[in-house]
Amino acid sequence: MRIIDGKSVAQDIKNNLKTAIARAVERCGKPIGLAVILVGDNPASKIYTSNKVRACEEVGISSYMYEFKDGTPEEDILSLISRLNADETINGILVQLPLPKGYDEGKILKAINVHKDVDGFSAFQIGRLNMGDPQLVPCTPLGVLALLDYYNIPIEGKNAVVVGRSNIVGKPVASLLLFRNATVTICHSRTPDLAGHTKRADILVAAVGRAKLITADMVKEGAVVIDVGINRTEAGLAGDVDFESVAPKASYITPVPGGVGPMTIAMLMSNTLKAYELQNGKD
Ligand code: NAD
Repeated sequence: MRIIDGKSVAQDIKNNLKTAIARAVERCGKPIGLAVILVGDNPASKIYTSNKVRACEEVGISSYMYEFKDGTPEEDILSLISRLNADETINGILVQLPLPKGYDEGKILKAINVHKDVDGFSAFQIGRLNMGDPQLVPCTPLGVLALLDYYNIPIEGKNAVVVGRSNIVGKPVASLLLFRNATVTICHSRTPDLAGHTKRADILVAAVGRAKLITADMVKEGAVVIDVGINRTEAGLAGDVDFESVAPKASYITPVPGGVGPMTIAMLMSNTLKAYELQNGKD
């Protein structure tokens, strides 16, 4: 069994991005800019956004942080997005989710110019992914694929089972695996006999949000197990996979923390570079 070290893979990717970004900036003669919008004071969101800003500094992206108090009129956020859409120094725009209660998340996300949608949540970017022509792909799913590739784990022809069908993780992970010629099953909260599906997985991706849902009896000997879940429990952070019992059966497994998590931010940096290159005529 090998533990997939997302932290060091993410660092490696960021180091390579730093060089690629410096080259792109020199070629185009202008800096790369990412706007990060945070509404309210959700402690986890604050940590995520400050980590994103720090990663920007690391790789050479100019970050612009916009913080709004919970209760700020939606129009103020929409008018900022509209200004950022038109601002040539901003190549990527992200709104940290979840938004506080009362905000229309769909409306706010839809306001972002799809070419600056570095989270890849827009119908345009999701549509491209599903048509097999991905451009800006949601960061966590992209991170999952990057981990599999980094460890040279074959995907083509394998049985991949994705547990979870959200628009930001489950469905795009499934699309990416399908795009790479895996045979993909998507399971969700209404799937009867979940274990019957997961036991057939060569590659098992858990993106549910239920601590330790996946136990050893649900996993095939030698499976590759990717745990996207981040669950805050009394004992600290836990994944969707019961790492202790599953690890001895797996050929590769991601820990939580230190697995998929760090990859998400590395992929955000990569998407911001991609958006910049697309906006500067590189397809
Ligand atoms: P979500 O709540 O939007 O979706 C959860 C999915 O799990 C749903 O499709 C639901 O049908 C399915 N589900 C719920 N209970 C189930 C059950 N008992 N059996 C089978 N399926 C079940 O969540 P999400 O946004 O996709 O996030 C999933 C997890 O991944 C969360 O723990 C979240 O914190 C984590 N996450 C991590 C990162 C990262 O950077 N590592 C990024 C995004 C989300």
